[in-house]
Amino acid sequence: MAQGVDRQADPEINRANVRHEPSPAAAGEGSGAKTLHRIVVVGGGAGGLELVTLLGDRLGRRSRASIALVDCARTHLWKPLLHAVAAGSLDASEYEVSYLAQARWHGFRYRFGEMVGLDRAAKEVRVAATYDDEGRQITPARSIGYDTLVIAIGSVTNDFGTPGVAEHAVPLETPAQAERFNRRLFNACLRAQTQTEPVRPGQLHVVIIGAGATGTELAAQLIRTIHEVVGSGLDRIDPQRDIRVVLIEGTPRILPGLPERTSEAAHRLLDKMGVEVLTGARVKEVTAEGLELADGAFIASELIVWAAGVKAPEVLQRLDGLETNRINQLVVEPTLQTTRDPDIFAIGDCAACPRPGASTPVPPRAQAAHQEGSHMFRQIERRLRGKPLEPYVYHDFGSLVSLGKWSTVGNLMGFLSGRGIFVEGLFARMMYQSLRLMHDRAIGGTRRAAVALMARALARRVDPPVKLH
Ligand SMILES: Cc1cc2nc3c(=O)[nH]c(=O)nc-3n(C[C@H](O)[C@H](O)[C@H](O)COP(=O)(O)OP(=O)(O)OC[C@H]3O[C@@H](n4cnc5c(N)ncnc54)[C@H](O)[C@@H]3O)c2cc1C
Repeated sequence: MAQGVDRQADPEINRANVRHEPSPAAAGEGSGAKTLHRIVVVGGGAGGLELVTLLGDRLGRRSRASIALVDCARTHLWKPLLHAVAAGSLDASEYEVSYLAQARWHGFRYRFGEMVGLDRAAKEVRVAATYDDEGRQITPARSIGYDTLVIAIGSVTNDFGTPGVAEHAVPLETPAQAERFNRRLFNACLRAQTQTEPVRPGQLHVVIIGAGATGTELAAQLIRTIHEVVGSGLDRIDPQRDIRVVLIEGTPRILPGLPERTSEAAHRLLDKMGVEVLTGARVKEVTAEGLELADGAFIASELIVWAAGVKAPEVLQRLDGLETNRINQLVVEPTLQTTRDPDIFAIGDCAACPRPGASTPVPPRAQAAHQEGSHMFRQIERRLRGKPLEPYVYHDFGSLVSLGKWSTVGNLMGFLSGRGIFVEGLFARMMYQSLRLMHDRAIGGTRRAAVALMARALARRVDPPVKLH
């Protein structure tokens, strides 16, 4: 049932240094006007940005509700592109979407800041103050009121408490981290070219821990990047002698979540490219010089990426008693409502949504976030009309893994048979691209997505295949 529709605008008050944002009045109405139902979405990622865009277009613009997005970043980059940014085969700035611009085009308000808490009785999200690089405050700590709250803050890497990971391994969670890794890789090559002493063991080695889709795709892209960079005149580096890309997986095969045939095909391709794959290998500790495996073997490497699992952000454990599971995800009902508060919903990686007949919740994947974003929009419309909510059912359309210019492999679910069909090559590549195109379309509309696609295709004809700076 929709709540708060009749609420009067809160006066703006300052208490304990926390600014309370006033409730927005309906557009065009004077004082005393009834306020709009306030929908706040926290997290503008694969699920949240699609949702808030739909809400803004369909409800915000028509003054049927007030829509706000809270995100601790200023721009959105679809996360499955991060490994390409890390490898230097994609320039993040060409794909980033500014939240402020998106808000303006799509009828919602953007509030910059990190959610750090929640007051369920007052129906307010606590947002931390933000500061610039010089330590000056940009925005104060504030509280943002809601009638319906959707939490969509994604996931972070899970190092399972492995010693040394936080200090010495690079995670791939944000564009800044992916770009930092790319710079480190490029700098390592420039250093090796100009130093007087010989290249150290491990100096130009990259180890990727975790051979899920992220680690496998990164390994394939990185081996190409390093050869492109070295081939661009860095003649004191001998690729055969100095360069090594190792992919480490704790389970017996790479891509353990995908069918065996996909995993075998990807493994064969990685072998062909020169990526060393170690399966059944557990990492005991990461150091500045490399990593030690559980069997005592040491692999020298100055560049280590940790891509071995995810958990939801820890702030979810502190959200005024909302139920979380062992990896911090908010436990939700099939309607995506949190178990302890029907006015608070969660979607995407940060939600543990049950799947009928399955022992594990909906997997943390872009297609799930996309589906949940669309489902959530329909639920909010129903909620505003006072209709009962419907359960979300996850549809697995299959999984594809891009191995750069070599190939794309994976399985697609047959609509009639309901079984996975193995696909590779051009068709698989096109299907792989389609998930991103669906996201681009959801946040920008068909025309904008088509123009962006053409612009990028043209840019690819004139730009080098990997970033050489
Ligand atoms: C390198 C990489 C490659 C991947 N490749 C694939 C793939 O090929 N296929 C696939 O299906 N999935 C892939 N995934 C997983 C996929 O990206 C996620 O499942 C998907 O992005 C989840 O969407 P989301 O909306 O839940 O969260 P996200 O897209 O992670 O967005 C979360 C948003 O919340 C914001 N946020 C976080 N904390 C706070 C806070 N406290 N306050 C305010 N804002 C906050 C973040 O800034 C971000 O904008 C990949 C993930 C990574 C990291």
